[in-house]
Amino acid sequence: MAEKPFRMLPRLTDQNRHFWQGGAEDELRLLRCRSCGTWIHPPSPLCPRCLGKQLGPEVVSGRATVATFTLNHQPWVPSPDHPYVIAIVELEEQPGLRLMTNIVHCPAEAVHIGMPVRVVFENQEDVWFPLFEPVEDV
Ligand SMILES: [Zn+2]
Repeated sequence: MAEKPFRMLPRLTDQNRHFWQGGAEDELRLLRCRSCGTWIHPPSPLCPRCLGKQLGPEVVSGRATVATFTLNHQPWVPSPDHPYVIAIVELEEQPGLRLMTNIVHCPAEAVHIGMPVRVVFENQEDVWFPLFEPVEDV
């Protein structure tokens, strides 16, 4: 079993709890504007499109594509042969709806821009980190 990479636990607030704890039910939840349907991430008190304030969490499909990525070789972890991939993925629900995450369950060399991925969750304490794995075998 590989060591889990060190992750900073986010501070939970009423604004972001749905995001960090949705994984407990295996759901990726993002804020959505009830007026115009725009998805909003990171959480904001106002819809950037219509300035509506009626926002609430809804479940997304968890399907995304890799928009950009970088390797972190993490010299402070005792497994230097397993660099991990820090990526920004774009969710299929909306152009520009992006999350910073890690790509897991595949070799770092296999990750590429445009790669189809889906969400998986890694639980640490009361937080479920949304990570992404390839949809197809690599
Ligand atoms: Zn709106």
